[in-house]
Amino acid sequence: MSTTILQVNGLSKSYKDVKALDNLSLDVKQGTVFGLLGPNGSGKTTTLGILLGVINQKSGNYSWFDNGDKTENRRKIGALLETPNFYPYLSAVKNLEIVTKIKNIDNPLSQIESVLKEVNLFERKDSKFRTFSLGMKQRLAIASALLGSPEVLVLDEPTNGLDPQGIAEIRELIQKIANDNRTIIIASHILDEIEKVCTHVAILKFGKLIKQGTIGEIIGGENYVIIASRDMKKLLQVINEDNEMSVFKKTETEVIVKVDKETTTKKVNQFFFDKGIVLSQLKAHSESLETQFLEIIK
Ligand code: ADP
Ligand code: MG
Repeated sequence: MSTTILQVNGLSKSYKDVKALDNLSLDVKQGTVFGLLGPNGSGKTTTLGILLGVINQKSGNYSWFDNGDKTENRRKIGALLETPNFYPYLSAVKNLEIVTKIKNIDNPLSQIESVLKEVNLFERKDSKFRTFSLGMKQRLAIASALLGSPEVLVLDEPTNGLDPQGIAEIRELIQKIANDNRTIIIASHILDEIEKVCTHVAILKFGKLIKQGTIGEIIGGENYVIIASRDMKKLLQVINEDNEMSVFKKTETEVIVKVDKETTTKKVNQFFFDKGIVLSQLKAHSESLETQFLEIIK
C-alpha cells in the first residue's frame, strides 16, 4: 500500500580504520517521519551524506524514488545537513533569494513567501539574519531546505544547540510540515526528539542497524514483568528455554523479563505454573523510554 521512497541496501563506509557504517539497510515509506536515532559517532551524518551524494560509500547501494533520474530525484529532496551560511547583514528574504538562484528555482518570490509563512517567519522577512534568535535562524534554514517544494526533507540534528524554546519551535514546525505526502528523515541522538516527532525509527550503533520499525514497535511496544520464585535457577532456565521471553535484567532475588506486548501478567503466571513453577512475585514493569534506549544501544 505505502510506496517506498528510499531503499538502502547494505551500505558500508570506513574512514581509514574507523568503520563508520556497517552493512546498513533501511526502508523508508512515503509520508512517514523517519528517525535515524543513535549516539554521537554512530554513523548518522555519514548515512545522510551518502544518501545525498556528498560522501561515497565503500559498498552497498541506495535508491530514491524507485530509481528515478538522479538529477530529477535530487530536486525532490530538500536537505539540511549543516547550518547553512546565511549573510548576517542581509534580510531573511534576501538570503533566500540567493538560495533560489543557486537552486535555480522558478517563481522565486512566491516560493520564498510560502516557505517563510510555513516556518512562521513571514512577519520578520525583512529583518536582518543577525537579529534572529538561534531558533529563528534554524527555522530560516528549514525554510531554505523547503524551497522548491521537495517531496522529502532531510534534517541532521535539527535542534542541536538550541535552547528549550527553540527546540520546541522546531519540533512543532516539523510536525506541521510532516503533512500531505511529504516524507521527513531526521537524524538525532535525542530519543525524546525522535519519539515526539517521528512515526518510524531506525536505531544505529557503531554504524550498525540495531532495530527498525514504527515508534510503537521499537520504543513504545516493549513489555516487561518482574518475577521471582523460590527456585531462581529453575526459573531462569525456563525463561532461557522459551523463545518468546528474554531476561532483561536480573538480580539475586528477581528477574525482569521482556515479554511479548500482548502478554498479560495472568498469562505469565499460567505459563510458569504449567512448567511447575510458583511465582512468589509477579508485577508489570514499564521501563522509561530512556532506559530502553540506553539498553538498546548499550
Ligand atoms: P554521527 O552523525 O552519528 O555522530 P558520523 O557519521 O558523524 O556519526 O560518524 C561516524 C564515525 O565516523 C565516527 O566514528 C566518526 O568519528 C567517524 N568520521 C566521520 N566523519 C569522518 C571523517 N571525515 N574522517 C574520519 N572519521 C570520520
Ligand atoms: Mg552527526
